[in-house]
Amino acid sequence: MKQFKILYRDDDGLLENLAEIRQWKETHAGYTTVFRIYSDDMEREHIRHICEFLDHEMPDALYLGCTTNANITDGALTNTRIILLCTVFECETTKAKILQFPFLEDDVAHDVAELKKCCEENPWVNAVEMHATIMDMSMMEFCNKMSGLREDIQVFGGGAFNPDMDDETAFVFSKGNEILGHGIVFLLLGGEDFHTYSTFISGWKPLKRKFKVTKADREILYELDGKPALDIYRRFLNINRNEKFFSNTLEFPLFVEHDGIDILRCPLAANEDGSLVMSSDMQEGTNVRLAYGDPETILASIREDGQRIADFMPEVIQTFSCAARRAFWGDENISDETVIFNKVAPTAGFYTHGEFVRINGDMLNFNVTLVIVAMREGDEPASGKRVNIAQEQLENSERERIPIIRRFVSFIEASTADLEEMNKKLAMSSVTDGLTRLNNRAEIERKIHSTLDRYRNFEIRGHMSLIMLDIDNFKKVNDIYGHKEGDHVIQALADVLRDTTADVDSCSLGRWGGEEFMVLLADSDLDEAEALAEKIRLAFAAVSYETAPCQTVSIGVTQAGDENADMLYSRVDKALYMAKAAGKNRVVRL
Ligand code: GH3
Ligand code: MG
Ligand code: MG
Repeated sequence: MKQFKILYRDDDGLLENLAEIRQWKETHAGYTTVFRIYSDDMEREHIRHICEFLDHEMPDALYLGCTTNANITDGALTNTRIILLCTVFECETTKAKILQFPFLEDDVAHDVAELKKCCEENPWVNAVEMHATIMDMSMMEFCNKMSGLREDIQVFGGGAFNPDMDDETAFVFSKGNEILGHGIVFLLLGGEDFHTYSTFISGWKPLKRKFKVTKADREILYELDGKPALDIYRRFLNINRNEKFFSNTLEFPLFVEHDGIDILRCPLAANEDGSLVMSSDMQEGTNVRLAYGDPETILASIREDGQRIADFMPEVIQTFSCAARRAFWGDENISDETVIFNKVAPTAGFYTHGEFVRINGDMLNFNVTLVIVAMREGDEPASGKRVNIAQEQLENSERERIPIIRRFVSFIEASTADLEEMNKKLAMSSVTDGLTRLNNRAEIERKIHSTLDRYRNFEIRGHMSLIMLDIDNFKKVNDIYGHKEGDHVIQALADVLRDTTADVDSCSLGRWGGEEFMVLLADSDLDEAEALAEKIRLAFAAVSYETAPCQTVSIGVTQAGDENADMLYSRVDKALYMAKAAGKNRVVRL
């Protein structure tokens, strides 16, 4: 295929360009001819004029197009307001067809159904290029419906947009159809010799910390982790709700998980209630992460991922990039990220507000992303020279050093990991007793209280019992054999408790105080509890120590009735007291 780039200035110039194309076709095999017209000139009349001009001058050629934020030719931002990209297909087998539909009452189902039908009727279709007016549409539904399209068809494109990011006016148009302020246009391409490879590159990197979307409605993101969504920008980045909000958050959009693919979503504005207006629908229950953009990191991503485009050996490259990227880089630098592709093949496209690409059968709608489509007719030339993207890019600039922001990010991630580890330990130590690794007093009390509540609310049935234990004459162990040996005895009782209750269901063990312990049996009656207590008593009495002789324990056992925790504690304590009073080393049930 051969591509002609036309920078439209006036009709005379266009006429000359068309003559050149006609001349080329006379000396080469040229079949289907398709024009893409991209315009950041919003005058309908200007667009209509060009369409009519083409109808008249090249009636056999197909054309489609849309309004844009700005256009790309030769891999770089151009200040030409209207560009025409004329592709002449050189294989007789390559076919093209245009479909255009108005959006009727936001109903995309009909449009997608028509597209599917057309693809079924024309089995040669293997790629669909699309442009749609997306500003007030839920493209989520469109994407979902598109997943039913034949698996092998690649789909890609960009939303129609406006040079003014705050203006929602946009048009799509095509040969034989109206200029629509509310609609979608598809260019169906295919044939046995026509091949495409499409991919996306963002270059923005996510920070590890995840936030859960706890409240969202369509594109309004209300809450993250139960707090107003704006808080993550206020707290972590000191970005406040003001007229600079959009441009400030551009450097830090959100990564949203979608079927294992991270998709960038931009907050467009913040509301008074702390909610964020996002660039696309948000789903409750999904996780988001803050992403950071940094020129060096972005170029590194293009070095890494762009090579696949070069390896495809395309004849033409289409790029649909985001206006947010343009705002992020600035007009002086934005071309740095795409100009490299022009070394591979003529690269053109535009800046939009929604980039589309189908990956593994899933139609994805991105923001802040660069969608790149490589096209070729025929098999790749075996002897062709592959462009080495990484090397070319490095020759363009001397940037090999690791960007400083990456170092800072590693520092933040490492510090966060340390903190998370410490938090885990802290959370553990707040419920665990250090000497015995059993539940501490507060934790076992919490468990007893909540189990008692669940019985009283009839959430669980059966019987709940408590076993309270106190080592006999323990002061003596400390006095004669030392505090350390005393600790060993305490640990030995904890081990005995663990061993003897290992196969008891719904059992919790806690250290109640010094050498006192409590066993909560959430599903055992008094008889079962007493039998277990006896088993514990015998097992503990059999433990031998380094210096101290064998020790014994007194045990009180009771079963919970319809009562509060204090009444239960006082009865089990009384049972324990009775065991002590009756001569120790025994179990008393009460
Ligand atoms: P009784 O049979 O009546 O229970 O007599 P006792 O000597 O065991 O009396 P008491 O229960 O009052 O004694 C508890 C002792 O346990 C007092 C305290 O010094 C000791 N103790 C408490 N916590 C620890 C500990 O963590 N390690 C050690 N080694 N001793 C402890
Ligand atoms: Mg005691
Ligand atoms: Mg004691």
